[in-house]
Order: sequence, then structure tokens, then C-alpha cells
Amino acid sequence: MAIEYVVENQDFSKFDNDTDLHLVKVDRNLTHYYVDSKCPKCGGKGYIWYYDYVEGGICFMCNGSGVHNQKIVVRTKEYREKLEAKRLAKIRAGAAEKNASFLKKEGFSEQGITYVVMGNTYEIKDELKAAGAIWSYLIGWHFPEEPKDYPTCILSKDTEIAKGITLFEEYPTGLIGYADTWIIQDYIKSLKDRYDASQQPETDYVGEVGKKFEMLLVYTGSANYETHFTYYGELQSIHKFADSQGNILIWKTSASLMKVVDGEYKPIEPGEQIKLKGTIKEHSEYKGRKQTVLTRCKIVA
Ligand SMILES: [Zn+2]
Repeated sequence: MAIEYVVENQDFSKFDNDTDLHLVKVDRNLTHYYVDSKCPKCGGKGYIWYYDYVEGGICFMCNGSGVHNQKIVVRTKEYREKLEAKRLAKIRAGAAEKNASFLKKEGFSEQGITYVVMGNTYEIKDELKAAGAIWSYLIGWHFPEEPKDYPTCILSKDTEIAKGITLFEEYPTGLIGYADTWIIQDYIKSLKDRYDASQQPETDYVGEVGKKFEMLLVYTGSANYETHFTYYGELQSIHKFADSQGNILIWKTSASLMKVVDGEYKPIEPGEQIKLKGTIKEHSEYKGRKQTVLTRCKIVA
């Protein structure tokens, strides 16, 4: 392999004046070809003192001759730029074909479109694979053509996945490549979250904020979390309920849900109906669903 250098102002004096270099030829682009015959390993001495204990320190690169030819090519800056432009033009000329095969390999149509499978794909991954879906850690399971049997979201190479950022970016070479991994993964997650929310029955707000209520509700379960505001911490619960229309109501409290049966406290189980009284604290949204937040509640029956 030749070593390549570039000079400005067509000034080759640094190389011409180097006594270790022999000028072999100059071509019509003013490119200078030199040979450096001095062995780079031993510096032309044929001997390496710190290898003295091996074979008497004879240089293994030049076999002790001190001569090891190295080709050196020196170009003018102008010609180097011309070569660069030619190289770029060559890549650009082939870019369309390369991009097409890249899209195909990545599971996109010729137009750069793919259909991302929504819902829980993990449980049906073998089925998806058999149906011709392609897996990618960036966008999950997807089909280059719209499948009949699976819910999908359309994704194009030009889809804006964040402000000013498209799924694929085009480089100066004309080749395309994916945007940053985490931006793509975030975007796909937002598509999936929106889809999941749309699959849930629509909910509405219950009551009026600030007003008291007394309602028959079905307890649907609790989520617990530890608070660390005190030394001991306190277990907080979000108790969830549904009214007869399936609307969501939640109550954040450290109290557990108990009822008295035959003079003894028993925990209330999910699915049980209770009569709850309290105050409507706020109307909010969680993962795209409307929910009514309750406070100062008491189980009446
Ligand atoms: Zn040598």
C-alpha cells in the first residue's frame, strides 16, 4: 500500500528535498510518485538495538539490509479535490440502487413505506414471522405491504418522528440511513401507546369537581407505591373503581380498603361492589383515558 500525501500550491519541495526519497515519476495531474527505500523499522541501520538478544538484533523487516521500499504518492490539493468529487459522484450515481436494496432489506416498500404491527406482538411473534413480518429492534415487527390480519400504523421514510427529524436522513452521498435510535424507539412507543389507548372503551368524567358524591362502585384493583417523605416511608395506594358505565375513578390514600363482616375487618377484593362516599377532587387523563380522582372517601357499605 502506498502512503498518500497532499500538497498545497503545487509545492513538492518538502518531498523533493528529502534525501531518503527517490522521485520515480510525475504524471499529467502533477502527482508525484516517490520511493522511500529506508527501512521504516530500523531506520536504515539494518539493526535494532533493543532486539539485540534476538538473532543478534537483525531487523526482521529488511533482513538487515536497511532497505525496504515504501511507495509514496503526493498529489496536488486541486487534483485530490477532483478525485473526491469523482468519488462522490460515483456514489451518488449508485445511491438510488443502494437505497432501494436498503429499504427492501429493512422491510419497507419501494416507496419507503412500512406497516408497523400494533398491540402485543411478543405473544404472536412466531405467527408474525410466518406471515412475512420483519423484526427490527428499532421499529419492532413490520410488513412492507399492509397485512389483512393485523392492526398496523403506517410509517414512511419521510415520517417526521421528532421536530425536524425524519425516519431516514439523506447524506451528502445521496445514501439514506436511520435517524438516532432512541428518537425512533420513542416515536414507535408513542404510536403503540396511542393504539393501546384507542383499544380501551372510551371513558367519561364522573360528577362535578369539588362536589360531594355517594355512589355504588365496583373495586377493580390497587397499585401500591412507597413514599419517602418520612423516615419510615408510607405505603400509598391508588385504589381503582368503575361505575356502572365503566368510567374510571381513583382514590389515592394510605388506607387499605376494608369492610366489617361479622364484627371483623376483611379486605375488599377486586370485583366486589361497594358504596363509597367522598369528594370529587379532579378530572384528569391517564394514558389517553379520562379518569375521575376522588378524595376524603369513606366506605359506606
Ligand atoms: Zn530494517
